[in-house]
Amino acid sequence: MSWMSGCGKDTVQMIPTKFSYKEVRSTCGQTSFHGGIVLCEDCEARAERLYPQGWSDIPGDTCEHGNYIGTPGGYDYICGLCEMGEKI
Ligand SMILES: [Zn+2]
Ligand SMILES: [Zn+2]
Repeated sequence: MSWMSGCGKDTVQMIPTKFSYKEVRSTCGQTSFHGGIVLCEDCEARAERLYPQGWSDIPGDTCEHGNYIGTPGGYDYICGLCEMGEKI
């Protein structure tokens, strides 16, 4: 299961500034300020259903055991439990 790269809808990302946040117009699927991914509300809601365990940068980069396993197409980090075929 891999995460598709967003729907391209206009969305707003909040970038921290010295005193507060500023809103920057972005498109859904774009790389965010934090190095993750900008998602619109719809895609974020869907990602939360697909990955209830949450994620670090990009939906799908954390396995069902809550271990960081790397971003799709990037480095892979092996989860020992996944390797053993362990299911929750
Ligand atoms: Zn979207
Ligand atoms: Zn795992």
